[in-house]
Amino acid sequence: MMTQVLDTPEKLYRALPSMDALLSQDALQPLLQRYGKAEFKLALNQMLAAARSEIASRQQLPQWLDSATSIFEYLADQLQASHRHSLQPVWNLTGTILHTNLGRSQQSEAAIEAVTSVMRYPTPLEFELEAGKRGHRDNTISELMHRLTGADACCVVNNNAAAVLLMLSAVAAGKEVIVSRGELVEIGGAFRIPDIMRQAGCTLVEVGTTNRTHLRDYEAAITENTGAIMKVHTSNYHISGFTAAVDEALLGKLCRERAIPLLSDLGSGALTDMRRFGLKQEPTPQAMLADGVDLVSFSGDKLLGGPQSGLIVGRQSLINDIQRHPLKRALRCDKLILAALEATLRHYLKPETLDRELPIMKKFARTQGELQLQAQRLQTALAKVYAPAYSLQIIDCNTQVGSGSQPDTFLPSVALAFSAVNGASILTLERHFKTATRPVIGRIANEQLLLDLRGADDFDALLADLQASGAAL
Ligand SMILES: *Cc1c(COP(=O)(O)O)cnc(C)c1O
Repeated sequence: MMTQVLDTPEKLYRALPSMDALLSQDALQPLLQRYGKAEFKLALNQMLAAARSEIASRQQLPQWLDSATSIFEYLADQLQASHRHSLQPVWNLTGTILHTNLGRSQQSEAAIEAVTSVMRYPTPLEFELEAGKRGHRDNTISELMHRLTGADACCVVNNNAAAVLLMLSAVAAGKEVIVSRGELVEIGGAFRIPDIMRQAGCTLVEVGTTNRTHLRDYEAAITENTGAIMKVHTSNYHISGFTAAVDEALLGKLCRERAIPLLSDLGSGALTDMRRFGLKQEPTPQAMLADGVDLVSFSGDKLLGGPQSGLIVGRQSLINDIQRHPLKRALRCDKLILAALEATLRHYLKPETLDRELPIMKKFARTQGELQLQAQRLQTALAKVYAPAYSLQIIDCNTQVGSGSQPDTFLPSVALAFSAVNGASILTLERHFKTATRPVIGRIANEQLLLDLRGADDFDALLADLQASGAAL
């Protein structure tokens, strides 16, 4: 069909191909095969509607109706765009490694393989192969956590919010739980300690003040109705100045004397010393247990570097109560998560390879010098591709851990900084990057678009993507 100069809209409407003609057009059959009849017809309908609105607004037929080839290309683009997976890979160059909105921690190759295998084949999730009897789905993780933290046992659930809810429900429902006023945190979303307490059926007993809480405050609050004392790691903020908090060792002693369980919501739950990266040392679950905490809960996808999950480690009798609680069934993890978590924890059995194998550690371990070299390589290769609308500089920047961990600690990093020149707009570039085959997510600061290179997985692939993206500007 040729674009014709037709004078009236009626004639233009009549020149549109019919649905039947399009459905049986040979050139379009590959799209029908690929996407199925229903999706193909929907795309044809949308195409014809777009054509009609072009006639109405501009009194002409759209260009893409010119030939069978251009119709094919138009439809192929539309179908491809509407069939793009929403959970597609992106480049997280935001400068926040554990970005909750971008899916937090990436998984190791071993974890990816383990997940793929349990997706494909049946697996003894709740079956003991040697004994030939029913097993428990948390057993392997429990044994690994025993080796890594010394805990008697472990219970695995959907995330740390679930872990805190379950821990409180199983240990202290209908009773009072004592928490320092300095630790009544909000993590984000609807996770606030007072709300979780209510949800678990516990009565929150606040002690101390925002900045100072003493052992005698806890002691004075203990009654015959006390179900637990809970410590909450204030992971996402920092109070300084005239402060006092009671550490776990002291509270552990008090709790043992009074036979009250001591619980800890640790948040991140780093299992190794983070100081090797220049970060602050986080309290570890193993240190908490050694100090006399009975149950510690933490996330699987923060500093641990595994899949989204919540782990509760600690005393056998309490873990048994937790495993038997009806909420456990509602909050338990599936085989994909358990497979990824097991593979992640196995890396910790071989700590000397941790910084190579776990993507999160690999990113923390990069030096600013290494990143500087990569930045120079990218700048050299890309400067011409983005000229004349955008210029490229290399600047020093700071990477954050993210997910509320260590809000006041930064890792020195390097960013590729794009500036708009010659009347171009930096917001246009930001939008353009988001429509790339693998969208590139950076951050805007001082009218520059910064791509923090610490977050890149593979610099060759990043270079190829940025070259393609620049060429398509
Ligand atoms: C992050 C965090 C949580 C919530 O953990 P999720 O795994 O995101 O559910 C709870 N408590 C603390 C102290 C945290 O830092």
